[in-house]
Amino acid sequence: MMMQNTSLPQLSITGHTQLVGLLGWPVEHSISPPMHNAAFASLGMDWCYLPFAVRPEALAEALPGARALGLRGLNATVPHKQALLSLVDELTPEARAIGAVNTLLFGDRMVGHNTDAAGFMRALRETGFRPEGCRALVLGAGGAARAVSYGLANAGARITLLNRTPERAIALAADLQAAIPGADVRAAPLPQMQIGLLAAKADLIVNATSVGMWPHTDAMPWPEGLPFPERALLFDLIYNPPETRLMAQARAQGARAENGLMMLVHQGAEAFRLWTGVEPPVDIMQAACLRAIRLPH
Ligand code: NAP
Repeated sequence: MMMQNTSLPQLSITGHTQLVGLLGWPVEHSISPPMHNAAFASLGMDWCYLPFAVRPEALAEALPGARALGLRGLNATVPHKQALLSLVDELTPEARAIGAVNTLLFGDRMVGHNTDAAGFMRALRETGFRPEGCRALVLGAGGAARAVSYGLANAGARITLLNRTPERAIALAADLQAAIPGADVRAAPLPQMQIGLLAAKADLIVNATSVGMWPHTDAMPWPEGLPFPERALLFDLIYNPPETRLMAQARAQGARAENGLMMLVHQGAEAFRLWTGVEPPVDIMQAACLRAIRLPH
């Protein structure tokens, strides 16, 4: 006879259950389902969050399907965030300026939102850091770097973007200058060895590259042997592993370092708020993420 684990909340899907979920390819490593389902369970809400593995070529078909099935909304992750820009009825100003959609809200119209920028800024402010007027060095120019730089530029930070492919950083700087009047953003088409000159002046260094992410935890988006500036705050968007090699180096040199877990939680909390109109239980969501990260992959 199968024994039930009575210490876990029982999942009970009924005809009233409201569905939301995640579009990605792949989605099996995502910790968004346990994060949102823990939030619903803790509030006694009859909602359920499901992962949907959708091939890029099936995305356009999946959207009206999800809507027809009565989903309230969806999150989107790699590789769909950019493709959604042209598939929704309406974009929020953030999603348009960032150039990526990570949350969909289905109503009379299908609206594409981006909650990554708000999630990052909330997580950054929670560390006690004040971004207004700070000098920020952002490593990367992909989707996450776009959201982070948008949030920082709106807060009046002075931003330098460094990316392996400089053309992407230059394009991002131009997009932000066009979207945010007076934005102080430049791309430094510099060889990697000069990262030290920029870093020495930075108050904040954000790793928005995927370098150092599980399972390639030995990698680092920082030149070997270059000390990390002690006075800068390192915000690494990676949350698995909880301490990247770059974070360990920064801490060893006396700098403060934060991982991307609270950005993940806050971008999810923002989506939760949009779909449900209910204040999200952030502590529960954080605890669920920590539990999920500890599970074997
Ligand atoms: P993405 O759009 O694919 O961009 C990847 C970025 O990493 C690009 O700038 C890319 O440079 C750079 N990169 C990749 N491999 C590199 C290498 N070997 N050397 C140097 N640069 C390299 O991905 P994304 O969506 O922006 O995500 C980036 C990271 O942020 C991931 O680790 C992701 O998990 C994390 N993230 C975290 C959160 C959160 O809530 N905490 C949210 C979103 C993303 P090129 O342009 O030269 O290819």
